[in-house]
Amino acid sequence: MRTGPARDFFHHAALPLRRMVTLAGAWLLPGECVLCGGLVEHSTAGGGRLACAACQRYYIGEWLATAGARCRQCATPLPLAASGLCADCLRRPPAFDMTVAAAPYALPLDRLVLQLKFGGRLALARLLGEAMADAALATPGFIQPDILCPVPLGPRRLVERGYNQALEMARPLARRLALPLQARMAVRVKETLALSRAATPAERRAHIAGAFAAQQREWIEGRHIGLVDDVMTSGATMNELASLLKRYGAARITCLVFARTSPHNV
Ligand SMILES: [Zn+2]
Ligand SMILES: [Zn+2]
Repeated sequence: MRTGPARDFFHHAALPLRRMVTLAGAWLLPGECVLCGGLVEHSTAGGGRLACAACQRYYIGEWLATAGARCRQCATPLPLAASGLCADCLRRPPAFDMTVAAAPYALPLDRLVLQLKFGGRLALARLLGEAMADAALATPGFIQPDILCPVPLGPRRLVERGYNQALEMARPLARRLALPLQARMAVRVKETLALSRAATPAERRAHIAGAFAAQQREWIEGRHIGLVDDVMTSGATMNELASLLKRYGAARITCLVFARTSPHNV
């Protein structure tokens, strides 16, 4: 540790330097693209960026630009020339009103979700959450929810993993959208195992039925709630939670997910 005049000199000399770094950092901070490892420059005023400009354009840009070509309610890609709602949502409307997805659940973006969930790469949560905020603001017809609620994990899964990835993604999303976050709006009262890909929609609904319990009616009644999760596959989990919150008086539910599976890889 430096003492006396030497310490004073370094202390004062460091001040302008620190200020310069802070000022520069407000505009431009170099980071590493999570997809190609290349340089990504981002504004801290607007938050971080998941990927470099080229990867953003290639892997996410087209997806965001074609939000109108996906189902408004569940974000599944629609057949060419169709618009509005998919056949499933028309036939059996889910309990949620809208879904915003930041990216397709496909290579290489699916790896990010797996690294966050099973690889303990918790730092990814901020970038994925911020990408979800960008996607929400870029989605036509997006209405800001009143409050965000992450899809809860069961206590056993939470102990195994050490964190709920949905909550970790919801924090930066809430910050960026300036929304309150209430992680205890619902709890998971039934642990469920992942179903095989061959499971039918009816099997998925039966499997997840009764998995959640709501608490604190005052957070739910009359509110537009944003449900946050990493991936939407069949939508059965979101549907179960949304229908529970609607029974408790929620006015509207918007699902906010990082990635959405396309019909052929459900
Ligand atoms: Zn890149
Ligand atoms: Zn749909």
